[in-house]
Amino acid sequence: MKEVFMQLEEEKEFQQHLEESSVFDSGILCPNCMKTNLVEHSAVDLYCEGCAQEFIKVEKSIRFK
Ligand SMILES: [Zn+2]
Repeated sequence: MKEVFMQLEEEKEFQQHLEESSVFDSGILCPNCMKTNLVEHSAVDLYCEGCAQEFIKVEKSIRFK
């Protein structure tokens, strides 16, 4: 239950971030180059500044675009 609560809190913070800024660090390490965290352009769009790979968020995981 604690994990679910944490996710809800993160979701809330995530929404606040979206309102404050359109781009921010997702905290997810790029699975392609493993060098830098992905930047979020929206709730579903992620981008790696290290290797320029784009990702799409699918539920709790990410996929290559
Ligand atoms: Zn990368």
